[in-house]
Amino acid sequence: MTTKKYPSWVCQDCGVKANTLTCIKKYGSKPKKLQFSVSTYHRGTCEVCGKEKMVTEPRDFFYPNFGLLEGKREKEKQKKLENTPTHMLTCRHAIGRSGNVYYMECRLLKKTKSGRAKIVLFGERNWKDKKKKRSIRYVEFHRLTKIDG
Ligand SMILES: [Zn+2]
Repeated sequence: MTTKKYPSWVCQDCGVKANTLTCIKKYGSKPKKLQFSVSTYHRGTCEVCGKEKMVTEPRDFFYPNFGLLEGKREKEKQKKLENTPTHMLTCRHAIGRSGNVYYMECRLLKKTKSGRAKIVLFGERNWKDKKKKRSIRYVEFHRLTKIDG
């Protein structure tokens, strides 16, 4: 975790979220009070999320641990990464004697003991549907082409 200095100004979103996470971690339950009933907000930049919003002092949220919020964001980033394809899988769709080749986006997970590739396949045959479906497959490595960038 990064060692950033404690923020002076935070938005309500970050304050309430950090307070909730802090209480769950400390006491195992949500806070009874999310924030002070009287806070003086002014327009500024939240030092936690970096957005320009109405901000107030962290005191209004009982000085929560904003680092917990960062950990949560890291997890979300990780999740996004898991949905990013790394390879194209070459597939062959046979129609009678001829067949056509098409490609599907996938993410290489690991090499199995038997030397095959364990992948997450995005979508079904039609690449336009790639957001709809994900499935785990085991394929031969020669069918995979790395996506550049
Ligand atoms: Zn914020």
